[in-house]
Amino acid sequence: MEAGMKQVRNALAVASGKGGVGKSTVATHLALALARTGAKVGLMDSDIYGPSVPTMLGGGPPPQPSAQPGLIHPVETRGIRYISMGLFAGRDTPVIWRGPMATKMVQQFLSQVVWGELDYLLIDLPPGTGDVQLTLTQSAPLVGAVIVTTPQDVAVGVTLRGLRMFEQVQVPILGIIENMSSFVCPHCGKATEIFRHGGGRKAAEELGVPFLGEVPLDPALAAAGDAGEPVVSAEGAMKDSPTARAFVEIAERLLQQVKSVNSLTASVRHHPTEVKSADGVVEITWNDGHVSRLPFRALRQACPCALCVDEWSGERRTDPNRILMSVRPLDIRRVGRYGLQFNWSDLHGSGIYTYDYLRSLDPTAPKDSATQAKT
Ligand code: ADP
Repeated sequence: MEAGMKQVRNALAVASGKGGVGKSTVATHLALALARTGAKVGLMDSDIYGPSVPTMLGGGPPPQPSAQPGLIHPVETRGIRYISMGLFAGRDTPVIWRGPMATKMVQQFLSQVVWGELDYLLIDLPPGTGDVQLTLTQSAPLVGAVIVTTPQDVAVGVTLRGLRMFEQVQVPILGIIENMSSFVCPHCGKATEIFRHGGGRKAAEELGVPFLGEVPLDPALAAAGDAGEPVVSAEGAMKDSPTARAFVEIAERLLQQVKSVNSLTASVRHHPTEVKSADGVVEITWNDGHVSRLPFRALRQACPCALCVDEWSGERRTDPNRILMSVRPLDIRRVGRYGLQFNWSDLHGSGIYTYDYLRSLDPTAPKDSATQAKT
């Protein structure tokens, strides 16, 4: 088995705007749910300030020293491989790291752990949007990021902060998961909505990112975590509980997203080296040197989102003549390595224009790439 990320097919970050939202719980259960599909899965607990993954997975044997000095073997348990600072520091010892040390540790986890062949490596990021996260997102070849949030955090915009960090480094958002979404009574099994439910889905729609699903606030999940008996586990007593099923469904949706991002990225032949907007046009300079000048209104009229275009028939659902003459982009964001998202002055912002689609809107662009009209 090889050290480092060479044999890792898909590295996915699991992030949150702040601590305590259940990010590690979600990352661990997602890893187990992905493993249930037969995939080879790794989990890197880079939450060095409060590593909780070893407790949740029930410890297991300590990491094995490698025959080659400097290399670390991950722990293999419950069908996944994982590594965590908690394995080295002892579970009850608080780890106080200064920024640069923390960053170095994370880099070691990426380069010196013998991950071997993995279909998915979930990277549980420290909470927030600091240096460690940025380093990590820049030094690991991430397919995308999953944002974990709670109904309250959506309300105060913490989710958005996490999201913006990934946009800055051009990592696609694979989706939002709402944790502790409703309370499941341990006695009668009835779900009660304590906080305003559905905020995660709404936020995802507004931000134009997929919604992967909801995990209920389930006392059994917290108890299982403390006892080292995760609810999603082939041999676990709760493997078929509604909470376990929620994780399995979220994992299925996540796999769909990974597939679609991978196919979009593979299809990209042209990408912009510069994007400017001025004098009524968006000016895109492409990697082949061609410059496209796309008028604001025409671009807005060509929005490919599911609200504007019928997904099945491809027919436009909105009347292009009703788009304001004065429409302009308030901000233009890159989405992963395959497209741009425009936040328009008429408050429309859900459409992702793939690079191929943008090229197809410019009749003067050299026609050597497949066009792709779908988001
Ligand atoms: P984070 O990684 O965001 O800091 P953790 O995953 O460590 O958060 O979770 C914080 C606490 O909340 C833990 O005690 C965990 O067991 C509990 N918890 C997380 N998600 C749920 C849930 N859906 N239902 C009940 N308890 C949860």
